[in-house]
Amino acid sequence: MLKKVLIANRGEIALRVLRACKELGIRTVAVHSTADADLKHVRLSDECVCIGPPSPTESYLNIPAIISAMEVSEADAVHPGYGFLSEHADFAEQVENSGFTFIGPRAETIRTMGDKVSAIQSMIEAGIPTVPGSNGPLDDDQRRSLELARKIGYPVLIKAAAGGGGRGMRVVNHENNLLQSIYVTRTEAKSFFGSDAVYLEKYLENPRHVEIQVIGDGGGNALYLGDRDCSLQRRHQKVIEEAPAPGIPEAVRREVAEACIKACRGLRYRGAGTLEFLYQDERFYFIEMNTRVQVEHPVTEMVTGFDIVKEQLRIAGGEPLSARQEEIGINGHSVECRINAEDPASFLPSPGKVTLFHSPGGAGVRVDSHLYSGYSVPPHYDSLIAKVVTHAPDREQALTRMRIALDELLIDGIQSNVPLMRELVTDPQIRKGGYNIHYLENKLAR
Ligand code: ADP
Repeated sequence: MLKKVLIANRGEIALRVLRACKELGIRTVAVHSTADADLKHVRLSDECVCIGPPSPTESYLNIPAIISAMEVSEADAVHPGYGFLSEHADFAEQVENSGFTFIGPRAETIRTMGDKVSAIQSMIEAGIPTVPGSNGPLDDDQRRSLELARKIGYPVLIKAAAGGGGRGMRVVNHENNLLQSIYVTRTEAKSFFGSDAVYLEKYLENPRHVEIQVIGDGGGNALYLGDRDCSLQRRHQKVIEEAPAPGIPEAVRREVAEACIKACRGLRYRGAGTLEFLYQDERFYFIEMNTRVQVEHPVTEMVTGFDIVKEQLRIAGGEPLSARQEEIGINGHSVECRINAEDPASFLPSPGKVTLFHSPGGAGVRVDSHLYSGYSVPPHYDSLIAKVVTHAPDREQALTRMRIALDELLIDGIQSNVPLMRELVTDPQIRKGGYNIHYLENKLAR
């Protein structure tokens, strides 16, 4: 088992990892920027190391500083959380080359999945259904691109192979705009992601976003932990998530789950991972795989009773999977609201001092948050400040519990999207379920 883990992240996920370490009797090292000395997990950790100034490139993305912190603190492993260095294959490799354990997949797996084109190719080999598309990077042959798009049928989507965070995508509705759009997406991809590789995919017009949680031991065993619906999005970013995804026929669900598990066994996948799909007309289409713990992992933990972060730590410590597939059941329904420090109307970030924080509670309510009264939200990072998660025997009751929890939640001093969340959980279409990825944007536009 691991003895000391360095947490290379901040905010709620750093606290989540810290709590899991404590449960397993693992000592913790928090690393933080100069803007983050007051973070809750920094105060609760066994040791802490300041790794640089506020700018993420000089702190949370600063690989030499993090590896030095592992050396001075004699940590044996690093948990990268999500974002920052969590899907950075070179980081994983340097950690392992320095003699430490990276809590996540092997560097080569991260590299394959980090390039969306090679990810799609490896999923096709594993028999997973993908979106009709180029199945490879577009080259400079304009005629070939035009032919391909015509064959797939408009609208099509040009995507950056190295894209992420909902950026590097462009919809093309008509042939006249294809070549220009490829050119623009390439240029943007080069400057955002450092690679100008782009590919082409059918643009699905009313899909849902449904994803599958897996966890593997690195030796060819893997567990399927059910699915989540994350269709409520703004600018391709998730806003509310739930588990299980409602209204999917059992046979369709089983077929895709079995294909995912087979793929993970074939990859000898190590650690937690998510295969993301679009779901339309009772069919699944793979879009990408995330090789890390996700923001929305709590909804899966609530319905399965399986602790994903503790399992990540155990696997990294060389232990076998702690459950057999037959032991994983789906119990009830869970919903998560992502609470951001932002203006609920303009969505502009709203950093500053939290004069009062009161967390909701009661049966079936979980709040993952690093906030406390008197804490100042710094302006340098992602605006996620809390995740409110509810669990109940069914979807209807989970949403009712969410409505009550959001009414109890108090955050004073800064603005947050709580008013928008309150409105969403009572929206008749959202209560009904099964809405597609455009629902929220259309509603906001109205
Ligand atoms: P990122 O890595 O930036 O999150 P994804 O490939 O996961 O990019 O896509 C993010 C979101 O973009 C999806 O959840 C979906 O809303 C939309 N999207 C991606 N591919 C397609 C597609 N082929 N058709 C329609 N929407 C898509």
